[in-house]
This record gives sequence, C-alpha cells and structure tokens, in this order.
Amino acid sequence: MKASELGKMVEHLGPTDKMPVLFIGHGNPMNAIEENEFVEGFRRVGETLPKPHAILCVSAHWQTKGTMVTAMPKPRTIHDFGGFPGALYEVNYPAPGDPELALEAQRMISGTAVGLDYDWGLDHGAWSVIRHLYPQADVPIIEMSLDYSQPASYHYDLAREMAALRNKGVMIIGSGNMVHNLRMVAWDKMEAPGYAYEWAAEAGEKMKRSILDGDHSSLIQWHSQGRAFNLAIPTPEHFLPLLYALALQEKNDNVSLFNDRYLAGSLSMTSVKIAGAS
Ligand code: ZN
Repeated sequence: MKASELGKMVEHLGPTDKMPVLFIGHGNPMNAIEENEFVEGFRRVGETLPKPHAILCVSAHWQTKGTMVTAMPKPRTIHDFGGFPGALYEVNYPAPGDPELALEAQRMISGTAVGLDYDWGLDHGAWSVIRHLYPQADVPIIEMSLDYSQPASYHYDLAREMAALRNKGVMIIGSGNMVHNLRMVAWDKMEAPGYAYEWAAEAGEKMKRSILDGDHSSLIQWHSQGRAFNLAIPTPEHFLPLLYALALQEKNDNVSLFNDRYLAGSLSMTSVKIAGAS
C-alpha cells in the first residue's frame, strides 16, 4: 500500500465520537417497502443516529464456513427470498462498499482468520432495514458473515475484537430476530397486534431482561435456557447477530429497546440500541 493510500485510510477511519451499535429485528422482507409501525420505528431511530463513516452489518442471511467480510467497492443488492411481489425485487440499494474497512476488520481480529469476499453483496437482512435508516444510500456498508460451524461464544468474542471500530466512525449493526420460529408462525394472527405464543413471550421477556441487566452470559448460553428458548431459536442464525451487538456494549452505554413487539405468535421484532451516554 502506498503512503498516500494509508493516509487516506487513516482519515477515512479516523477517531470519532463513539458510534452507537444496533441490533435490528428485520422481520418480513416486505418491511423494505411497506409502511407499518416497524418501518416507522426504524425511521424514528434513524433520526437519532449520527451519520457514520461506514456500517458493518452482521446479517442472519449470510452464513458461511469461516468468517468473511465483503470487500467489493460496489456491493449488489441481493434479493434473497422467493414469492414476494415484483416491487420488492425492483428495490436497489446502491450504497457503496468499503474495501478499506474490510481490511481493517481483517487486521484487527486475531481470534480467527477473517476472509475477504468479492461475491456476496447486501442481502435483505442489511438493505431492507438500512434503507430506512439512511435512505440516501450514502453510507458505505460491508457485511460480515456468520460462521455456521461455531458456537455462540465464538461470535460474542469475535465481536469484542471489533470494539475499536466504534471510535473510528463505524456503526455496527446486527440484523436478525430474537424470537424467530418460521415453522410455527400463526398466519391467521398476522394482523393481531403483539400476538405471541406463551413460549415466545417467555423467551422474549427473559431475553429482554438479560439485555437490560447486562447479563450476556445467559444469552451466550441460550442452549441451556430450556424449552422456550429452544422453540424461540430453532436455528441460531437470527439470534446470533444480537450477540455481536451486545458484545460491543461498554460500561457507560445506555441500552434501549425499540419496535418491542411480538408478531404472529412465534416472532419478535424487538430491537436494541446501544449508545454512549450523551
Ligand atoms: Zn430474516
């Protein structure tokens, strides 16, 4: 790398006020184009956020063997779903990539060898919600994948290694859903506000209590939390992005919830904002 390029990198990811961290419950891909209470919640939170130099998004919808980060300058908008109205496939979110940030993330993480990816792009876990936070698509974004072969503690520890990015203008966003059992969705209760099965509410309320109490170890050990957790997390990919966000919480941060609602029995949209006390 030339000295002039290095100078640019230092400037690009230079010291800033500590950036907030988010966990976003993304829910239905249609949230990308619909108007509803959740989309209003995304926008409302967006208004409270600074404009970061870049976003690093850990999405439930990118699982790989090994941890990867996207490193292309122009990530494509991936329509990674089937059977939705044509308008959803026409959405393009042309935020630039950030190859420098990908290298920086690779360099700062020592617990594993982070790979650089040039094929993926932005899946709907990222673009369907970030487009409501930054509608101009003018904040560069990289995605980080979830290594499906690793236990929860790996993800938490990995995220902790990225703590310094918060002071370099990088906003880290985990995108998933805390309670997410698609096989048990009560399709006939789709319109019933806040409808939750008993086990979904039990798991969701315990999760929130742990988040607000700073009890991360109970969440890392979700496997041993009993039947309600096992039903709420039938597969871990929508839950793990929460651990990335929590791992970045520091002592004096405020933790708040938004879009704190259950949906269709077996889903929760509960989202978390972690931000330095102002
Ligand atoms: Zn999803």
